[in-house]
Amino acid sequence: MKLVKCQVCGLVLAEDELHEHCPKCNAPKEKFDVLSDEDAAKIERSEFTNGLHLELIKLCREIEDLAASGIEDALDPACVKVFKKAKADAFMIRRMCKAELAGHVSKGKW
Ligand SMILES: [Zn+2]
Repeated sequence: MKLVKCQVCGLVLAEDELHEHCPKCNAPKEKFDVLSDEDAAKIERSEFTNGLHLELIKLCREIEDLAASGIEDALDPACVKVFKKAKADAFMIRRMCKAELAGHVSKGKW
């Protein structure tokens, strides 16, 4: 199955999903380019990993929120230390995932 990409908004569709207009930006179908097999393979190969990064970003946000509650609760200094580390590490992992995704987009792995 060939993939096509909207030149206006970047939406990627399977060729048989494209009708008269882009479902995202309404550009006419003539504005779509057929992706090379190499470019299509990059997109298909990265789909699972990109999903893992998105899920990890969501989990990091949950860890950050949980840790913030622990910091606010402040049962004792050792607990606060653990929660502060968890919050900082989750924040850094989330930023690292975002950098990976930005790299994937710039390399056509999206
Ligand atoms: Zn479009």
